[in-house]
Amino acid sequence: MTCIACKKGSTLPGKVTVTIDKGATVVVIRDVPAHVCSTCGEEYIDADTMRDLEKLVCAAQKAGLNIAIQHFKAA
Ligand SMILES: [Zn+2]
Repeated sequence: MTCIACKKGSTLPGKVTVTIDKGATVVVIRDVPAHVCSTCGEEYIDADTMRDLEKLVCAAQKAGLNIAIQHFKAA
């Protein structure tokens, strides 16, 4: 698809690192599947993947972690 941010590049499938800062918990998730703009580097993550990321954040909050670093895996 065409990048929304720069309107010039097109996005390619890739892996990104996502940091989610929620309340007292910061979760860093590596190897998250995303589409990355080849021109400006803007990252697009689809809705299903976002849901899986939110589950990881919820799990870290329940575990009482302040900082968690995880590898992405689909739920
Ligand atoms: Zn772009």
